[in-house]
Amino acid sequence: MAGSDRGDLTRTAILALLGTVGPLSRTEIARELDLSPASVTQLTRELMGHGMLEELDLKPSRGGRPAQRLGLVGSAGRALGVKVTADHLVIVDVRLDGVVLGAWEHPFDPSGPHALDDLAGTVEATLARIEQAPPLLGVGVGVPGSVDDQAVGTVNAPTLGWQAMPVGERLRRRLSLPVLVENDVNALAAAERLYGRGRTHRDFLVLTIGRGVGAAIVTDGRVYRGARGGAGEFGHVPVDPSGPVCGCGTAGCLEAFVGAAGLVAAARDKGLLGEHAAHGDPGARDPGAKDAVDELGRAAAAGDRAAQDVFDQAGRILGRSTAGLINVVDPEVVVILGEGVAHWPYWQVGFDRAVRAQLMPGRRDIAIEVESWDETSWAQGAAALVLATPFDAAGAAGEQGRLVRARLIGAAP
Ligand SMILES: [Zn+2]
Repeated sequence: MAGSDRGDLTRTAILALLGTVGPLSRTEIARELDLSPASVTQLTRELMGHGMLEELDLKPSRGGRPAQRLGLVGSAGRALGVKVTADHLVIVDVRLDGVVLGAWEHPFDPSGPHALDDLAGTVEATLARIEQAPPLLGVGVGVPGSVDDQAVGTVNAPTLGWQAMPVGERLRRRLSLPVLVENDVNALAAAERLYGRGRTHRDFLVLTIGRGVGAAIVTDGRVYRGARGGAGEFGHVPVDPSGPVCGCGTAGCLEAFVGAAGLVAAARDKGLLGEHAAHGDPGARDPGAKDAVDELGRAAAAGDRAAQDVFDQAGRILGRSTAGLINVVDPEVVVILGEGVAHWPYWQVGFDRAVRAQLMPGRRDIAIEVESWDETSWAQGAAALVLATPFDAAGAAGEQGRLVRARLIGAAP
């Protein structure tokens, strides 16, 4: 067809609109994108022919005929999402509409000499066992560290022992598929943009609590990445210079207080967690810390005031720092996620009081929402990196995003 570059851009814009705001009528699409009704009719017919859009219910309209709404076909594509941690991988197989088709966990040693080969081999083995349809658009990888660029995928992640690791390049070579790599919290924000808060808000924060403490800053619909892809290291906001040593090498960071290891250290100071002996500095990401925090959570649930106090104190520290971040960034809404939300009822009182007390007037009624969490949430975020690219008219995923779009359109029957 004539002007195919422009047509491609417009098709992407239509997918982007429906992927982010949900089903719309042709008239609404034309109005939102400032297109003529004739070109919307033509382009949506093509997209329906490609199996990417479908006609949904009739939306009653005042006056004229009821309008036929168009929506994305959830089964038009799928992606694998991979979450890399210090001791295991979680891999999920996710459809375009966010439905999880499968999930797997594998042990993983990021410090071994063959770490990237092991990673690629595990992904390959997963690809070999999944169904052929719907078509696979690519692989998204979430890492606890900074990434230069999603489409390049060079990773610095001290907690994995990775420095300038060419994760994207190696996986692309082994898998011959589009591969997008991103900081794990930024990947969660990509999922929120696609399926969650991003449908109704353009400026929001995603905070995570658990082993570490992280943030993703979404402004004007985009994840803010910083100069080197390292923005959002909320866990390393200074809280108290006389505080515990942090994994980053300095002292008194937010994460050293309220990350899992920090909670465990605070609990031991109160004589709690006798079974979990001290493991040295609380900045180290002790893999046993999550079990110890779960034990602390059970004690809090059983009414142990000292255990409740540990969470309450952590809530207050997190609340003060969160207020600072809100004051700086001015989001519409804040979403709190991560393994740590399992114990949120014990953080909440301290958190709410501290955050409201520290917010500037006029921002004290900001919505702060805590979402449910499961083991595969991180990996679902990684898959969303790929699944979001067909809807990303801004092209954050670069050349890899173009390849993902080509697979989506090319896969049509
Ligand atoms: Zn730190």
